[in-house]
Amino acid sequence: MNPYGSESDLTGAATLTSCPTSFIPKAVRGSLFFFLDDPGTDNDPVSSYRYYEDGILILTDDGHIADIGSATDMQSRYGLTHRDIIDHSGKLIVPGFIDTHTHYPQSGIIAAYGYQLIEWLEKYAFPAEAEFIDKHYARTISRFFLSELLRNGTTTALIFGSVHKVSAEALFEEAEKLNMRIIGGKIMMDRNAPQYLLDTPETAYSDSKALIETWHNKRGRIRYAITPRFAATSSNEQLQTAQRLYHAYDDVYLQTHVSENQHEIAWVKRLFPSSKSYLNVYNDFGLVGPRSIFAHGIHLTDDEFKLLADKNAAIAFCPTSNLFLGSGLFNFNHACLASVRLTLGTDIGAGTSFSMLKTMAEAYKVVQLQSNFASASKKKAALTPFKAFYMTTLGAARALFLEDKIGTLQPGKEGDFIVLNPDATPLLSFRMKKTLTLADRLFAFMMLADDRAINAVYLMGKRWQNSEA
Ligand SMILES: [Zn+2]
Repeated sequence: MNPYGSESDLTGAATLTSCPTSFIPKAVRGSLFFFLDDPGTDNDPVSSYRYYEDGILILTDDGHIADIGSATDMQSRYGLTHRDIIDHSGKLIVPGFIDTHTHYPQSGIIAAYGYQLIEWLEKYAFPAEAEFIDKHYARTISRFFLSELLRNGTTTALIFGSVHKVSAEALFEEAEKLNMRIIGGKIMMDRNAPQYLLDTPETAYSDSKALIETWHNKRGRIRYAITPRFAATSSNEQLQTAQRLYHAYDDVYLQTHVSENQHEIAWVKRLFPSSKSYLNVYNDFGLVGPRSIFAHGIHLTDDEFKLLADKNAAIAFCPTSNLFLGSGLFNFNHACLASVRLTLGTDIGAGTSFSMLKTMAEAYKVVQLQSNFASASKKKAALTPFKAFYMTTLGAARALFLEDKIGTLQPGKEGDFIVLNPDATPLLSFRMKKTLTLADRLFAFMMLADDRAINAVYLMGKRWQNSEA
């Protein structure tokens, strides 16, 4: 028996294939799962989530969630007929995934062999990013990148452009066409990179300011992130301009990297000898605060974790990238104990998958590698499937201060949700039939599923159709 509902309810297939992209259905049926709160590290945190095995989501005419509940309740309350409902019975509907760290200009160098961070940047990332001086090229890669996100069930992402203003413009224009909620920015980088990729404090400021004033909360569902690549590639003057921008505009974000690699940390120490630590370089420039998202944080100290928590800043844990570049194992337990806002990122193109399901799986393994099972009294928490799905939905929305809009399926939120197919592959289907609990089923998705399990993606209530395919 299918754990998500009756096979006899699978009546929507014909309706779905003919569903135009402009159509917002009145109701969507399937198993519904979403969080109300942080599940912590409990194995069965029932009060933190809602699950309707046979549920219906009601949408408003403009694609927001109007109501949610059991199919029986919703049908009687709204007098729904068969024609009102897009039927995904037998599948699991969850909020769209949120990827909090990725670089779209690096799409073409995913799986580039053989180096660790600094050499990898010099050998692969910098030459690839140079091509984004050409807006036509940037537009083509933006289209590919956004459709890969959506194919993988990611409906919101925090995205790095290249140093070129046109790279951010192209990305925003393509996201606007899709009505996709993204946050992005052009990289600020005025030293320690090839001459052809450098801006200046002045151009970084004027280009970022112009992008903010054109796009941030102005067009589509776009927001802007001030984007110094990392401390080593920005001068003091440039970090000061980042500070001015971060404090000048409401709701702007700050995205950058911190403590990814030991050589990088030593380098930053040499460049900023008066700062107490790597994170303190950013803090000394007023860049650690709400809406600042720091990728990696693998080698952070106790004081740095505390500073992040005190400032309401977030860490994007990027396991596939950390393993691929051999950067190290993120200390998930330490971050949880310090109450740091925690999210997950793919970090394309050092990361090796666009899939947040694959990212959750690798995060689980990274946490497992550091768990101490020798002593029951000292046993550290594993990454539960509930926590992993939380970090990819409501937890990320909270870290981005967007929980009033996305990350859950409560009434009033934007209708960004995805449909997971438990029968996407023979192995997944076989394993699902052996599961007994919701936790088992979420864990099977997280460990065994990938883009093949993303059966449908809805953006503001409209089903996305892949025009890139
Ligand atoms: Zn990165």
